[in-house]
Amino acid sequence: MFDTLSDRLSGIFTKLRGKGRLTDADIDATAREIRLALLEADVALPVVKSFITSVKERARGAEVSQALNPAQQIIKIVHEELVTVLGGENRRLQFAKQPPTVIMLAGLQGSGKTTLAGKLAGWLKGQGHQPLLVAADLQRPNAVNQLQVLGGRAGVEVFAPEPGNGVGDPVQVAKASLEHARRAARDIVIVDTAGRLGIDAEMMAQAAAIRDAVDPDEVIFVIDAMVGQDAVRTAEAFRDGVGITGVVLSKLDGDARGGAALSVRQVTGQPILFASTGEKLTDFDVFHPDRMASRILG
Ligand code: GDP
Repeated sequence: MFDTLSDRLSGIFTKLRGKGRLTDADIDATAREIRLALLEADVALPVVKSFITSVKERARGAEVSQALNPAQQIIKIVHEELVTVLGGENRRLQFAKQPPTVIMLAGLQGSGKTTLAGKLAGWLKGQGHQPLLVAADLQRPNAVNQLQVLGGRAGVEVFAPEPGNGVGDPVQVAKASLEHARRAARDIVIVDTAGRLGIDAEMMAQAAAIRDAVDPDEVIFVIDAMVGQDAVRTAEAFRDGVGITGVVLSKLDGDARGGAALSVRQVTGQPILFASTGEKLTDFDVFHPDRMASRILG
């Protein structure tokens, strides 16, 4: 991911190398090129606009005009603005004062929710927690089974619908899972929910009903980083329809242009908590805006 954007930016910076003082015209030309590079990477227009405004303002200020090496100063500014767009500092998961902490996953079908549920459970277990996975995606025929397989691999119990705990009704399953978590002394409950291929009123209503039933500490919106410009509309729909507290970027190992990754923080107003980078349980890490910015700048 970001290969094209990285190449474009490095080309822009190369042109600045060796220049002495930068004129306003140099700065404007550079800003225009960065703008184009971001738009071509599918970054959402409002995000590009505010990014370029900040870069220009700072580049025209003292830090660049008095610098001995303006190219390096511009790179530093772009790096810092990328960090800001990606959320600044990493935000950790919010835990409930009284366990169990409830983490609900939401997103479109295929975004990587179920895979993430397994990864997150394995990661939390590695940190000494006792998570419970909850199969409340009853839409996709294989989702329950898939979660059971992932839970098995992660060594984490999976609460699946069966007679007595709400077969066919994801809200009942989610509710029943909380009682089970208390009885079995699980301190974190991860609820996988159903998605559809596109934004769908029924899916949103179901996600909102599950949210109301389990009162989650985190509602994590999982977004496929490969989806490009559509990402913004999807993110807004989940923000408004379910109310999200954090984002996970999945499929960051893909070769898409990366615009979703750079837009989602500003569009949703919520932090990116984790990154998913493959199909294996361990292809997962805490999201660090500064590391991602460094990767983009090569
Ligand atoms: P869900 O419908 O949102 O639950 O999505 P799934 O978890 O079933 O993921 C959809 C597909 O994407 C599956 O084939 C996963 O193996 C794959 N997948 C999930 N996360 C990643 C990732 O980070 N990288 C890659 N390359 N594939 C992923």
